[in-house]
Amino acid sequence: MMPAADAEKLLADVEAFCQELRPIEELCYVEHRYNDQLVPLARKHDLLGMVVPPAYGGRGADTVTYARALARIGREGTGVRTFFSGHTSIGEYPIMTWGTEEQKRRYLPAACRGEKILAFGLTEPEAGSNPLEMRSTYERRGDHFVLNGVKYLISNGGIATTIVTFAYPAGRQGRISAFLIDTDQPGFQSEDLTAKMGMPTANTAMFEMTNLKVPLANLLGEEGEGFRIAMGTLISGRISVAAGCLGVIEDCLAEVVRYAQERSQHGKAIGRHQLVQEHIAAIEMDRLATEALVLRAAEAKDASAAHPGDAKRHAQAELLAAQAKLYASQAAWDAADRAVQVFGGRGWSTLYRPGRHLQDVRVCRIYEGTDEILKLKIAAAVLGKEYEAYR
Ligand SMILES: Cc1cc2nc3c(=O)[nH]c(=O)nc-3n(C[C@H](O)[C@H](O)[C@H](O)COP(=O)(O)OP(=O)(O)OC[C@H]3O[C@@H](n4cnc5c(N)ncnc54)[C@H](O)[C@@H]3O)c2cc1C
Repeated sequence: MMPAADAEKLLADVEAFCQELRPIEELCYVEHRYNDQLVPLARKHDLLGMVVPPAYGGRGADTVTYARALARIGREGTGVRTFFSGHTSIGEYPIMTWGTEEQKRRYLPAACRGEKILAFGLTEPEAGSNPLEMRSTYERRGDHFVLNGVKYLISNGGIATTIVTFAYPAGRQGRISAFLIDTDQPGFQSEDLTAKMGMPTANTAMFEMTNLKVPLANLLGEEGEGFRIAMGTLISGRISVAAGCLGVIEDCLAEVVRYAQERSQHGKAIGRHQLVQEHIAAIEMDRLATEALVLRAAEAKDASAAHPGDAKRHAQAELLAAQAKLYASQAAWDAADRAVQVFGGRGWSTLYRPGRHLQDVRVCRIYEGTDEILKLKIAAAVLGKEYEAYR
């Protein structure tokens, strides 16, 4: 556990960051452009290595504290929170967990200082819900590997300096391995994806590896361990999405309460109309349920981290992360939809927070495991492994 005073300081820094970021983020959103002040401000408030151990330059937050931080950041928007998920939850986390000492020293302090920005490249045009269908390959040639392939829909993919990525041995003979690839090397090319329905201030990109030379020292984990690393990383990623969705719900509730008290129609504040109150009660119930699930998943992940090698605790953390992410992303979508409704015509405008949340949060039901894949996972946990429908 992180000492209480350190946790309090971290959350105070997150609060200061969010307050400073908000006017800039709002302007970027309405102008539909990438928020290039996010990284400098996160660096200023020392938020680029929240879960990284202090020995590698980070703040050493446990998962519960980090989830609270991400919930606060999620209030600023799913695009802002997605940056942190990409850089920390699925970027720094796998290096912390499976990296060699040399890899940790080379990447983590620089990532905490914002000199390196991280991303996680698993999805491909032909491999989304089933990463085993990926086509990227690697081949060992002397003192390096050569990687080829295309990764699609990668958060931070166009701003990252280093990406955790995955490939099969050439000819797809054997199992997937994980690599740390540096994006300044010849053979790496990225393209920002701009035709998207939300998160205009965040970076989403595809990238291509064409005979990309990767030093042998950049293999992450053991050869053939890539799928396990990817799935282990998704536990951290799913909790981050769920925590961010909690923030979206909290922000929608705050906006709706304020607006329902300020706006009058039919001679009274709209908050006095019972059908408007129904929206407020529904958002509040979802906030409570989501918070409970997020904290439970975060506690389970901390318990699993405290007992490495305990398969039961690991499975419990994995299941709770999937459950929290499924529930939170649907609840946040519903909360944003209700908030838009309470705001009426203004709700439909991206000049107001509910409309922006609605557009942005939809992706949370798709990335880091779609609703459908998570439901199958939860059903298999209830029915038994032999019922796994996605194998
Ligand atoms: C904005 C954004 C950011 C992203 N960031 C990242 C990132 O940083 N890194 C990364 O690696 N990926 C990222 N992704 C990719 C994301 O994880 C995938 O889009 C997601 O896993 C779904 O894959 P897909 O889009 O190929 O859909 P598909 O897998 O083709 O699925 C299409 C539909 O079929 C359903 N389906 C598929 N298989 C089954 C089944 N067995 N049973 C029932 N239904 C099924 C799905 O649930 C879905 O409804 C991002 C995506 C977006 C949109």
